[in-house]
Amino acid sequence: MSAQLLDGKSLSEKIIAGIQSQVTKRDVAGLAIPALAVILVGSDPASSIYVRNKRNACIKAGVRSISYDLPATTTQADLLALIDELNREVGVHGILVQMPLPAQIDPETVIERIHPDKDVDGFHPYNIGRLAVRMPTLRSCTPYGVMRLLALAHDDLKGLNAVVVGSSNHVGRPMGLELLLAGCTVTTCHRFTKNLAEFVGQADILVVAVGRAELVKGAWIKPGATVIDVGINRLDDGSLCGDVEFAPAAERAAWITPVPGGVGPMTVAMLLENTLQAAQAADKRMA
Ligand code: NAP
Repeated sequence: MSAQLLDGKSLSEKIIAGIQSQVTKRDVAGLAIPALAVILVGSDPASSIYVRNKRNACIKAGVRSISYDLPATTTQADLLALIDELNREVGVHGILVQMPLPAQIDPETVIERIHPDKDVDGFHPYNIGRLAVRMPTLRSCTPYGVMRLLALAHDDLKGLNAVVVGSSNHVGRPMGLELLLAGCTVTTCHRFTKNLAEFVGQADILVVAVGRAELVKGAWIKPGATVIDVGINRLDDGSLCGDVEFAPAAERAAWITPVPGGVGPMTVAMLLENTLQAAQAADKRMA
């Protein structure tokens, strides 16, 4: 392997320690402790693990986590009523609804119901729209975390060719907007893209978020590229792998993220940073 690892675990720990010290300063100054409401509907095993990780990270950062564990039979009306209540609650700065939701609940309706000021996942169309017009406020956690990882490898991204593989609302699309904001020339590939290998081969910066194990082959990577693998796939033997064929990609790339330990911990760190930012914005509104 010749590539250097972009270590999201250690960067996220530094970021969380920084948040913790800012929360302590807020406490000393008599300001509210940032509070995050975390809503889990049902007991999907993967979602339960993600939620537990987020709640544990809140503890490390000194952020107050308020748990709502609802049964899988919860109706959309009941979930929306809880969100309305949390939107009104001044002591709550961020609201997170863990996805995926049971079939009877429409995720987009839920995302749009969260007040944009408390949308710490950065999924609300208002917040994605602000990123699109170069006025970012609360930014989607995974793409925002990727930008922080890229800053370890690049002082400046202007003029670099960035290729995003995957165009979901929560990762691929805001990822393209972040890279555009940073001055990259951005190409987004998706399921209808012809000649994926050709596009990947032009990428100085490659971000892959598809959810298909080792879809991107190591031999496609441009020598010297920076490779960010967002994908998390569980193999039959129980191990995790990304969307990029790691070992051969690491032979060609200059920088690469591991899976796990790359993007995942950064997503959680950005959630906490957004919660702190939402609390700071609430202070200003009340001043
Ligand atoms: P998603 O909502 O399923 O979106 C996947 C995207 O990939 C869609 O845009 C889809 O196209 C596109 N796609 C499907 N097949 C493709 C192909 N053959 N070539 C190119 N694009 C293709 O998934 P997601 O939420 O974006 O997540 C993607 C992966 O990242 C998953 O493994 C997920 O677990 C992981 N993830 C990790 C983190 C983290 O913190 N590390 C956070 C979020 C997600 P269509 O739009 O046409 O369907």
